[in-house]
Amino acid sequence: MRLGVMGGTFDPVHHGHLVAASEVQALLGLDEVVFVPTGQPWQKEEREVSPAEHRYLMTVVATASNPRFTVSRVDIDRAGLTYTVDTLRDLRAQRPGAELFFITGADALAQILSWKDADELFGLARFVGVTRPGYELSELGLPADRVTLQEVPAMAISSTDCRERVRAGEPVWYLVPDGVVQYISKHHLYRGAP
Ligand code: ATP
Ligand code: MG
Repeated sequence: MRLGVMGGTFDPVHHGHLVAASEVQALLGLDEVVFVPTGQPWQKEEREVSPAEHRYLMTVVATASNPRFTVSRVDIDRAGLTYTVDTLRDLRAQRPGAELFFITGADALAQILSWKDADELFGLARFVGVTRPGYELSELGLPADRVTLQEVPAMAISSTDCRERVRAGEPVWYLVPDGVVQYISKHHLYRGAP
């Protein structure tokens, strides 16, 4: 069992996340990619992140039609800040025998060495760094045998930009799946002050 792990805040999930996961699934022959919405992310303590249940449900809506995509609650059900090392430990315990491939964009990959228990991370999973417009993809300083770099179709989309667009009354159609556009509007997400 080869299991991809796509961690993220997903506030909201967008087509950049979905294309990255789909490309890596196909190129590495993964049996499944599990999307793992974070609880309170430790890098984003300074900004108000939307309630976990909204981010979880948007991720479910966005991935529902892909038979290889699933969504896990491990991070949102764990109290406290989310650290990737805990995500990987929990998934390991839930899926004994699965080989884990943690998928991450170039921006996040560049920071991995600053993550909690960085040394242990590379023992728990292989890391797949994907290209992301605006960031340089490099494995500098990361263990070469545990990190793969993968070019994926360039999607210049970020959740930050999607939130700002909604706040400004601009469209997010085609940046996020249709069901996510409708979910955002139904629950009046991203309308408040920044
Ligand atoms: P925010 O702007 O709120 O930080 P984001 O768009 O960066 O949101 P995250 O939830 O922070 O989305 O990212 C989750 C993972 O997806 C990270 O590894 C990130 O690098 C990757 N990712 C996000 N957007 C893209 C994209 N357009 N192309 C490739 N990878 C992406
Ligand atoms: Mg981000």
